[in-house]
Amino acid sequence: MPEELAREKFACPACGAEAIWNPAKQALVCPFCGTTSPAKLDTGTGGIIEHDLVTALRGITDDKRGWQTEKRYVKCQSCQAISVLDPQRQAQRCDFCGSAQLIPYEQTKDAFRPESLLPFKVTEDKARDGIRTWYGRLWLAPNKLKHSALTDTVKGIYLPYWTFDAKVDAAWTAEAGFYYYTTESYTDSSGRSQTRQIQHVRWESASGQL
Ligand SMILES: [Zn+2]
Ligand SMILES: [Zn+2]
Repeated sequence: MPEELAREKFACPACGAEAIWNPAKQALVCPFCGTTSPAKLDTGTGGIIEHDLVTALRGITDDKRGWQTEKRYVKCQSCQAISVLDPQRQAQRCDFCGSAQLIPYEQTKDAFRPESLLPFKVTEDKARDGIRTWYGRLWLAPNKLKHSALTDTVKGIYLPYWTFDAKVDAAWTAEAGFYYYTTESYTDSSGRSQTRQIQHVRWESASGQL
């Protein structure tokens, strides 16, 4: 029963509540009683298994779908992003565009469960400090930006990523531009005759095979 194992692994050993990843301690910590869990995320291996895309899509079984814990989905009506939340978390704004127009979203089929994840390295406080320092270095940034609520609403989110290898045979055509120069005569401010180089672009059609 992988579901049972997964839940046991992340439960606080002191009170049984769900332990949460703490980037500063690089450990699972209970948000209720503060106990650091002896359970370790396996952060050492870092192995990546490559799958053949077609085989993987066809062969994905239902037990490899879903989150194995209760989740809530919301969809942003402004940017269409779908966010997956813990049921107790109330999302006020879209984490991607800041819009408050969030509506409940029904997943038609459970999502593929990620095989691996990169745990957070930086705490939310440190991320906010970093953003403030960055603002401070922006000379032309409007003052309002510095005081903007943005720094107080920074939240960590996990983003799904897929990488692909492809073997491609492609023919391409394009307009290629080449610089060329002409010499122009002009009269300078003290009335003397001068010459200067003027840059132009000559366009030619180009094509090739990659
Ligand atoms: Zn606890
Ligand atoms: Zn949005």
